Amino acid sequence: MQDRFSLNSSARYVKGIGPKVYKLLNKLDIYTVEDLLYYFPLRHEDRSQFTCINKIKPGNVETIKGKVIATNLRRSRRRMAIFQAAVEDKTGVIYAIWFNQAYLKNTIKKNTELVLHGKIESSYRPLQITSPEYEIVQDEANSIHMGRIVPIYKLTKGLNQKRLRKIMYNIIKSVNKVEEFLPEDVLKRNKLINIYKALGQIHFPNNKNEYFKAKERLIFDEFFMLQILVAFKRMRILKKNKGISHKVKRDFFLKLQDLLNFQLTNSQKKVINQIVSDMCSSHPMNRLLQGDVGCGKTVVSMFASLLSLSNGYQVAFMVPTEILALQHYRKFKSLFSKLNFSVGLLISSLNPASNKKARDNIENGKVDLIIGTHSLIQEKVNFSKLGLVIIDEQHRFGVLQRAELRKKGSYPDVLLMTATPIPRTLTIALYGDMDISIIDSLPPGRKLADTYWISEDKKSQAHNFIKRQLEKGRQCYVVCPLVEDSSKADLKAATFIYEKFRKDIFKDFKVGLLHGRMKPEKRDKVLDGFLKNKIKILVTTLVIEVGVDIPNASVLMVENAERFGLSQLHQLRGRISRAGFKPYCILVSDTQTLDAEQRLETLVNTVDGFKIAEVDLKLRGPGEFVGTKQHGITEFKIAHLLRDIHILEKARREAFDIIKKHPFLKNKCYDKLKKRINSKYKKSDLKLIGA
Ligand code: ADP
Ligand code: MG
Repeated sequence: MQDRFSLNSSARYVKGIGPKVYKLLNKLDIYTVEDLLYYFPLRHEDRSQFTCINKIKPGNVETIKGKVIATNLRRSRRRMAIFQAAVEDKTGVIYAIWFNQAYLKNTIKKNTELVLHGKIESSYRPLQITSPEYEIVQDEANSIHMGRIVPIYKLTKGLNQKRLRKIMYNIIKSVNKVEEFLPEDVLKRNKLINIYKALGQIHFPNNKNEYFKAKERLIFDEFFMLQILVAFKRMRILKKNKGISHKVKRDFFLKLQDLLNFQLTNSQKKVINQIVSDMCSSHPMNRLLQGDVGCGKTVVSMFASLLSLSNGYQVAFMVPTEILALQHYRKFKSLFSKLNFSVGLLISSLNPASNKKARDNIENGKVDLIIGTHSLIQEKVNFSKLGLVIIDEQHRFGVLQRAELRKKGSYPDVLLMTATPIPRTLTIALYGDMDISIIDSLPPGRKLADTYWISEDKKSQAHNFIKRQLEKGRQCYVVCPLVEDSSKADLKAATFIYEKFRKDIFKDFKVGLLHGRMKPEKRDKVLDGFLKNKIKILVTTLVIEVGVDIPNASVLMVENAERFGLSQLHQLRGRISRAGFKPYCILVSDTQTLDAEQRLETLVNTVDGFKIAEVDLKLRGPGEFVGTKQHGITEFKIAHLLRDIHILEKARREAFDIIKKHPFLKNKCYDKLKKRINSKYKKSDLKLIGA
């Protein structure tokens, strides 16, 4: 028996790959045999049918087969080599023409049988096909580039289509040595073809039908392997009985309810009940709280916090930005101090002394609830008795960072919150290891924002509109496109607008400036001024994207709106729908790109965060939702989260069934699967099975 084909072996020793080509392949991220086999074509071209020369239509891309009846090499006036061949089939003659390839005269000779593929340029007869791909017909049965459906790959400079196709063809010939790793019953139940057939057909399909079968098998694989890991993770959490069994202290809940100046919505109550029941059980809670911006997640997290605090535990609340940390700190402090719990703040811009003091207080249990940024997961931070971990805007953190905070306690309960809704598909694929709570309604009396998209030249009208709103007592955000690590030019733009407003356009109103590069004390002062309604217009940046909660602000103007993502704009708009005032959102943009137009139109026409999230997923892919930190998990090579949801659901069912019956895949029939998954995910954040 021949050696099994090792997916892990270097592609360097594959037929047709020398040191030079190997370097080029590296540029395409191809290092191993596996990388090569899973380097799927961008698309295919059907070259299985030849067009008769007399049926050819100018302008079309055609595949023709014929015999060379004459050739000619000449030089243009600029000394460029022009090689021409007249090719004839039973129905007519066509001229093929190539530039700068004088050597062709040695390969394409009179009487050569030739297949040509390319665009028909001229419209005079005899027609001309310019720089076609060609193949000399030698062995009909074994043709790689013609007479079949051929793969088209993404290339890199120095590597051409034919070269790469040939390499692929060679490796596919021995693909039947690839080991099947899916258990047989899974294959059967889901009517999937075996792996080597799938890999062969995905590159060089016999026909469309076989191609689709191959694709389905490979999509299934991607989802299935991820779902095995998700199921595995969930099982490990559920099995643990070492969590904290919190006890409900009703009087605390009633006191907090009294301190709030509103009634909880039914949706909030439902979600709080789910959380409480998790926290009271002996399994550690692992719950994701979703809801559209402004639906009132923070209040829910307060009740969760209170449960842990009233049982004598500490709560760690991690958020992605300092501004959000500051704001939550103020809010929690004002409420929880009335319940005799101390609230602390830990952010990186504290001076070393305050930082040290905050850490000491966490360690000796002097603070009960600590709010902070990434600073919370520093090594030096130790909790005295951590009972609950809350992570707001969880997608801004990586899996590892979230795990890090969890590890600061002994099986604490964990509550993750999202800023924007996550599309259902993504939730299944990526958060399947968690329980999900959804707040599905907004607090009563909320008015939905009217959103307008205007061009730059209508801005002065918008300014007048804003003035009238300010005169009515409202406040306004003006957001400029400045991201945290962006250029100085952007910062200048925000400052410039601020100066123009202050000195000219809005000189009768107090204007403030807030951005990420300001010192925390300064930022805090500005935010406080805006909160207290001293500042009327806040010129700012994406720093206010999440969480900032100033109910009296009901107008938002976004400069260069095309530079923001859909979810970002939806989040920003969430800043102004926080009270009963009619909110207005004005997007300023002169964009003419289709992509940006689509985003702005969506925003004008839709207020529902779940719908917006679906569109965003379609436009930008899953990366944005998951966070760049989880690199390697959502990067499907062939699966598509939206298009392939039915396959995802099948794969998920199979994976969860298997893990339920064989939690550690100990049965022999899973050996190959286990090996395959561990090697595929070795570079990702996910825990490997049995590792
Ligand atoms: P998000 O879900 O975006 O984090 P927040 O928790 O910040 O939303 O809540 C948005 C605003 O709605 C806050 O000003 C909050 O006080 C208010 N709010 C929350 N729940 C209710 C409710 N049940 N009734 C009225 N207002 C509420
Ligand atoms: Mg929030």
